[in-house]
Parts: sequence; structure tokens; C-alpha cells
Amino acid sequence: MEGTMKAMVLEEPKKLVLKEMPIPKIGPRDVLLKTKYAGICGSDFPIYKEGLFVPKLPQVIGHEASAVIVEKGELVEGFEVGDRVTGTNIQFCGHCPACLATPEGELAWGCENIASLGLGFGVQGVFAEYFVIHDVLPGISLFKIDDSVDDLEAAMCEPMCTGEGWWSVPDPQPGARIVIIGAGIIGESILQQVIHVPDAEIVIVDYSDLRLRVAKEMGAHHIVNPARDGDALDYVIGLWGNKEFLYNYGERVSGNADIVYECSGNAKAWAQAIQIARPGGKVATVGTCEGMAEVSPQWIQLKQVQLLGGLYGGIGQSVADINAGKLRVRELATQVFPLEQLDEAFQVAMDAQKSIKVIIKVDQDAPDYPYNKQPY
Ligand SMILES: [Zn+2]
Ligand SMILES: [Zn+2]
Repeated sequence: MEGTMKAMVLEEPKKLVLKEMPIPKIGPRDVLLKTKYAGICGSDFPIYKEGLFVPKLPQVIGHEASAVIVEKGELVEGFEVGDRVTGTNIQFCGHCPACLATPEGELAWGCENIASLGLGFGVQGVFAEYFVIHDVLPGISLFKIDDSVDDLEAAMCEPMCTGEGWWSVPDPQPGARIVIIGAGIIGESILQQVIHVPDAEIVIVDYSDLRLRVAKEMGAHHIVNPARDGDALDYVIGLWGNKEFLYNYGERVSGNADIVYECSGNAKAWAQAIQIARPGGKVATVGTCEGMAEVSPQWIQLKQVQLLGGLYGGIGQSVADINAGKLRVRELATQVFPLEQLDEAFQVAMDAQKSIKVIIKVDQDAPDYPYNKQPY
């Protein structure tokens, strides 16, 4: 497609500039998408603040979007111009040995070209009127959106896939005592899955009353704001008791949670998650931590805590669940800004007291949709 488009370019850390750029060209395996709505992700913050995670600046960032196909390469199958879609932030090249060895429909995490191809992490992102999904892999990198799902909700498919991929990894059993640290979009996405575990009792911890209020509405049984309710470990011990364990060098204090999902991305909270888990309990590292954590290896060794790590699940399941109306995403969108106000939007998105998911309405001609509007 000929012509130019508006794009917000991150010229240097904390400096977003509105620019007129050529509409990107596509190859035979690619699709050109017109952006409708886009989301600001927690993983965009380190890029915005420090230029981390991207090979270089300037760069158009952003990887969560709803869009419509306006052009497709001749080798792209299963999609047509005019289809409403969303795409994943991690793209597999589809032709390296790891990709070729991966069964169809599964995620080729060994892909040799994965890092260089990430949407908004090296290739042009979604904070622009148009973007390209390269080397389309149907069912892995590009997904159709049902007519029942609007463009604002569709932009939430990608962030919700973290919960989809993660909630079952620690294998919560009926009656599980579950703690979720961090009630941002990642914690909320885990919460929306574990509320279906029969008789599970769920504690969620955050410093943001807005986020805790929404978590309560979503079904959390106990909400804890450490600024008001005291230390999270003390709270959990008060609720479920202190489980003593063999510990040679200090207090034998332990929470009694079967599973702790660390979703805050705070290294101190991650260390405390190991204390909150019961002896033999499990800690899932879901949030992307900045900085280093201080832990006693005995908390892991003698307490026999299982640490679980990983990346995220496929976006396909969250698209299916949002298409089926199983996830509540509209309530998690707290502000909508036009593309030109992306910088202001970042300030609000980075303030946990004010926001959960900040959405950018990239296409000014797109309809407005209801959301959980909050002051900022
Ligand atoms: Zn994201
Ligand atoms: Zn590959």
C-alpha cells in the first residue's frame, strides 16, 4: 500500500514523537494491518524508560493490538482482507530448524530468529496506524476475532494469554490455598482462571486499591494492601497459620499457601513469595522482575519449595476464551487515550494507583466502546 501513516516513535528514552512515516511494505508471507486499538504493556515500561529490550532506538514500540487486514501476501492462507484480527507479540520465523521440527499448532520456543522478529521489540510495533505481522503462522501468530468481541476487548487478548498459559502450571487442586502477588493485568489474568478451581481460597496482594477492588469484583476472596493491612506474609500466616519447617539459621516462619503466583515483577515480592508458600508448596514466577532478590537458599532446600519458571502461553487460548465470552476484559481497561497522547498514557499506565490496562485508540474513526473508566 502506498502512502504515509502516523506513528509515535520512541526517539530516545522517555521521548515519544509523532511522525509521518511510509506505510510498511509486506512480503509474500506477511499481512499489513490497520491498527484499531492497542494496549500499553508492563514490558513496554523498561523500553520507554531506558530503551531496554529493543536492539536500538528510534523504534515504534507496542505489541498488543486489535486490527483489520488491509493487505496480504500471496502465500498467506486462511485469512482475507477485511478480517478482524489480533496477533502475538512473539513471532516464530517458521523456517529455521526449530520451527520446522515443531508440530503444527505448537509454539516453537527454540526458534533461532525469535528475538529479532518480536513485534514492538525490534520490528515496528503497534503504536502506529499500520503494522505488519511477518511470516504469518495461522493459529500461532494471527487470530480472527468474532463479531461479538469489539476492538477494545480484542486488544486485550495478548495480555490475557499470560494467565491462560500460567495458571495450570503449578497444578492447583480443589481446595487449594492460593496467593497472587500483584493485581495488575497479569495477576488479574491468573485470577480469572483460578477462580474456577473448586473450593480454592484466593488471596490477592497489591498496593493499589483500584486493582484490589477490581480483583474483588472478579472473585478474589481476600484482598491485601500491605500499606494498610500490614505485611503480606503476616496476613497469610494470620489466615492459614504458621507452618514451621527445618531451618538452621533463623526464624522458622512460613506461610501456608499451596501456590503463590508472583505477578508483580518486584524482586522483593518474589523473595517473599517463597516465604508465603508452605513447605512443599509451589512458587510460579510470572511477573517480569527488575533487579535482584535476596533469599535464603534454605527456604527452597529445607522447605522443599518448588520454583516454576517460564514465559507465557499461546495467545490462541485467550482469543478462544474472549471469543467465547469467558474472560472479563472490559473491566480491566481503565483509560483510553488517542495515539497523539501516548506519552501521557504511559504516565498513567505506570501509575498502579490509577490504572490497570491503559488502551490507545489508534484509529480515530473506530467506534468508542464502554470500559471501566477511571479518573487520572
Ligand atoms: Zn504485553
Ligand atoms: Zn524459527
